[in-house]
Amino acid sequence: MHLRTYLTFWLSVPLRGDMVSSRAHDIFSIDYPSLAEHHDLLIFDVDDTLTAYKQEIGEQTLELLKKLRQNGWSIGIYSNCSAARTEQLNKLLQPLGIFNVQRSDKPHPDGFFEVTAEYNIPPYRTVMVGDKLGTDIFGSYLAGFAKRILVEPYSATRGGRKADPWNRFVRLFEKLVYFGIFNRDEI
Ligand SMILES: [Mg+2]
Repeated sequence: MHLRTYLTFWLSVPLRGDMVSSRAHDIFSIDYPSLAEHHDLLIFDVDDTLTAYKQEIGEQTLELLKKLRQNGWSIGIYSNCSAARTEQLNKLLQPLGIFNVQRSDKPHPDGFFEVTAEYNIPPYRTVMVGDKLGTDIFGSYLAGFAKRILVEPYSATRGGRKADPWNRFVRLFEKLVYFGIFNRDEI
């Protein structure tokens, strides 16, 4: 995580009510055909977005990614994970033509720009999907992505290993402040 940028998330919450474009139950309930009318690139977070926390990406998710590729989407993956896990993900995703960001400094926008540069697709044609406000959503907001979709944690909606208590607390606290205290909504 890029801590300095993350701290600016908390400074931005009182000022910015337009970070979350929309919320979705999970990656399977997003209306991809509608998004495809104005967007070409999808970037997914991994842990608690494509799979449960630090688990292998399952068959159902792989089928969805394959289908999206067949339907013409360019796809990138950006997880704030270890180098070893990135390597493991590469083996799985590169054969599908999916670019995987090698760094782990969300919410700094540079990692997000790595994907748009790889595909030569501008941020205004790009959609981010992730489970965390302060990293996935805020980082893609800083990068100027057209859509920033917040999903419920994969482990909460589809089961599997939950994130550690600290990560769950931070994720919940971010949502509580953004949606609860500042009463923000989808835009
Ligand atoms: Mg995540």
